[in-house]
Amino acid sequence: LSIWSAVPAGPPDPILGVTEAFKADKDPRKINLGVGAYRDENGKPYVLNAVKKAEEILVQQNPDKEYLPITGLPEFTQAAAKLAYGAESVPLNESRVAVTQSISGTGALRIGGAFLGRFYPHTKTIYLPVPSWGNHTPIFRDSGLEVKGYRYFDKKTVGLDFAGLKEDLKNMPEKSIVLLHACAHNPTGVDPTPEQWKEISDIVKEKSLFPFFDMAYQGFASGSTSRDAFAVRHFISEGHQIALSQSFAKNMGLYGERVGAFSIITADPEERARVDSQLKIVIRPMYSNPPLHGARIASTILRNDELYGLWESEVKHMANRIIQMRDRLYANLVDLKTPGEWSHITKQIGMFSFTGLTQPQTKALAEKAHIYMTADGRISMAGLNAKNIDYFSESVSKAVK
Ligand code: PLP
Repeated sequence: LSIWSAVPAGPPDPILGVTEAFKADKDPRKINLGVGAYRDENGKPYVLNAVKKAEEILVQQNPDKEYLPITGLPEFTQAAAKLAYGAESVPLNESRVAVTQSISGTGALRIGGAFLGRFYPHTKTIYLPVPSWGNHTPIFRDSGLEVKGYRYFDKKTVGLDFAGLKEDLKNMPEKSIVLLHACAHNPTGVDPTPEQWKEISDIVKEKSLFPFFDMAYQGFASGSTSRDAFAVRHFISEGHQIALSQSFAKNMGLYGERVGAFSIITADPEERARVDSQLKIVIRPMYSNPPLHGARIASTILRNDELYGLWESEVKHMANRIIQMRDRLYANLVDLKTPGEWSHITKQIGMFSFTGLTQPQTKALAEKAHIYMTADGRISMAGLNAKNIDYFSESVSKAVK
């Protein structure tokens, strides 16, 4: 008998399962709207020109391959923090932001979870929006936190359940940890307005909640990195000590390079140094130190004016292409006299749209139209382009009629 004979088979990953079904489909019209990675006008993966140029510079510099420090490349972490908090950020300029490089956004959340699990001095319960990114629950559970939810999405309006959200925040035990998507909420594409963020910040303050921001899409939502950082910067200006996860997967297209950062606001440089030392103790036994290449690319872009400008224009281009696809999809669905109200498609923001399509409808789209999305009706807007948007719109229209 094998040692592992009692290991039960786990369920397949719901998103990777969509890709499998897509790959097996031989129809030329097939569309994959499952995966959360940007696709260009031709449906192809896109390597940013800013990234290619940074890599050329790096080849010229011919750097060595020595280990990075445990918390990563200092130029990168400083530039990443500046991007998130802004050049004028008070805590940053007072040297009281503890920041470490991470294995992209997932790794940042995991370091943050582990740090809170070890040192958060109050009840270690984290509240996630319902729904949230599917990986949040296992990340925080594996970090040793208890995971609960707060209302976020309203199925009826396909928008934000702001009343439910506020009520749930107000009813949380004081000093609970609350996870907030900084912008481009995944999977719904529904974000609070700046005014609503201000109210959220007030309640978080009233209840002494600890805000942990997940910022996986800075720049990707609106096309502007500073507009997308509104919530994070507003909370800082209100004096909140926040934790922050950053990813450069989407906004720099560095998915597989695994570039990210985790940071936490402390009271003063002495406290920052203590927190820093403990972040190192969390990270060292996990993976010792982070990979070099992606951090070098990101830091080259963030620290070079010309490349920074090029990157900003490319982020804007990606965000605008997605916004255009939202407009086209909405206009098509209206033209086709599709039953129902579809304005949420243009109100939502970022990579994803929660279409409101039901499970039987998404199943019918896969079987009859060769269109693949997650069973909750979420589509990756980046999978749509001028060549497939009309076919997609017609198929959706048929599926709901
Ligand atoms: N957080 C959210 C909300 C996401 O959507 C994602 C990616 O889809 C991530 C974090 C982390 O992604 P990565 O680990 O590739 O940076």
